[in-house]
Amino acid sequence: MFYSRYAVIGEQFAVPAAPNVFDNATLALFNTSLNSELGLNWDDDTASLYLSGQQPLPDSHSVCLAYSGHQFGQFNPTLGDGRAHLIGSFTAPNGDVIDLQLKGSGTTVFSRGGDGLCAMGPAVREFVMSHALTALGVPSTQCLAVLSTGQTVYRQGTLPGAVVARIAKSHIRVGSFQYLALQQDEDAMLKLLESTMRDMGLEVSENRDDNIFTFFQYVCDAQCDLMLKWLQVGFVHGVMNTDNTLVNGETIDYGPCAMMESFSFNRVFSSIDRQGRYAFGQQPNMASWNCGRLAESLLLLFAEEQPAIERFSAMLVGFSERFNQGYQQLWRNKLGLLQAQKGDQDLVTELLELMTKHQLDYTNTFASFTAAKLHKLQAQFPIPSELQEWVVKWQASTAQFNDGEVAAMMMRHNPAIIPRNDLVEEVINDFYQKGKSELLTEWLAALSSPYEYTSYPDKWLQSQTNSTHY
Ligand code: AMP
Ligand code: MG
Ligand code: MG
Repeated sequence: MFYSRYAVIGEQFAVPAAPNVFDNATLALFNTSLNSELGLNWDDDTASLYLSGQQPLPDSHSVCLAYSGHQFGQFNPTLGDGRAHLIGSFTAPNGDVIDLQLKGSGTTVFSRGGDGLCAMGPAVREFVMSHALTALGVPSTQCLAVLSTGQTVYRQGTLPGAVVARIAKSHIRVGSFQYLALQQDEDAMLKLLESTMRDMGLEVSENRDDNIFTFFQYVCDAQCDLMLKWLQVGFVHGVMNTDNTLVNGETIDYGPCAMMESFSFNRVFSSIDRQGRYAFGQQPNMASWNCGRLAESLLLLFAEEQPAIERFSAMLVGFSERFNQGYQQLWRNKLGLLQAQKGDQDLVTELLELMTKHQLDYTNTFASFTAAKLHKLQAQFPIPSELQEWVVKWQASTAQFNDGEVAAMMMRHNPAIIPRNDLVEEVINDFYQKGKSELLTEWLAALSSPYEYTSYPDKWLQSQTNSTHY
């Protein structure tokens, strides 16, 4: 049932490595619906055995993957899974091939002096955020479980340790290609290209150049669409390095991420992102930049570079065009403008300026418009007083459309509930203090249906004006 998917690329790329064995590990969080959706149907004991490293997955050999990456613009040749082990891949009932990876499972040849471990807090954050993003309709890696290792981790003090068991449709990053380009390993890169294409459901033809461009187009489109999704829900990733950019367009690496509350294209949460390189509104540019780094790596496979460079450049222009189209459509969707009309752009620009100026909550503001169209939950989502004049113009723009259709469109694009940063912190504190969180149990159910517009405890909707720094 399980197998080692990346072994074909070679042992320098998928390095055999066993995870730590945590004999006293216990399940802290277990996504049981994901467990059955994936066809695993593990009971708690089975999950504990496999995810604590006590028992290897049948028929699979655990590996850690090599990759390079641009970190905040600086190239780092030797990254790789420094605290993660890919324990196996399998086919889910829906036909998707899924990787199962442990994070916090001990040192590897790529640890570079790190301890290979993960503290409970970041593990819980990844569980909550990836769950919420998936429910919001954002492609993402997901957490099957978080285990408490029963051991401590040192991070400016001692903290309980954890292992995150995460799944992804692929763990191949832009940095994976950068690594093979650096090695000048044409043979391995060709294998990686073709196997990744197959994993993504792309047809591999006899023509190598065609394959490369087909693959690159797929990655650009997937990254572009991911950026539009992040924009739609107000997600700030915080560490969009090329090693944290999956070629299949799933969100990975929930380190310093956060949901934007008060609106600003300049919003940053990560304390290490001092220049705002990965600020909310910069993300599409950075995704395109990361695709550029992929293109550079793929040049290794071309006999003649210049024509390939020109073609890649044109495709990167295509990224911007696709994004710009999607961007206009996104705001129309969020505002219930069922057809494009004159004045749409001005309406959006004016709104975003007002939201920035008055530090309005991104989610609640759009939820208030949605509630108004639904004639529902208007007390929970009042239209901000600063927008009264703007709202008259917006109502006039939507007047020609069918109210029910407008409301339905807006509901699909404006979540009522998101994982607000102070609540994520509260859940993390619960886990540190009690090893569990009653808040999370209730909250997670609501986060699982973010577009439902049922009523919520006020506390879950409260906006934090100031940006937290991680
Ligand atoms: P990240 O910033 O999470 O994308 O990690 C960048 C690199 O640092 C990756 O190669 C990670 O595997 C590695 N890394 C992060 N934390 C640790 C740790 N505690 N021990 C070893 N390696 C780590
Ligand atoms: Mg990473
Ligand atoms: Mg990380």
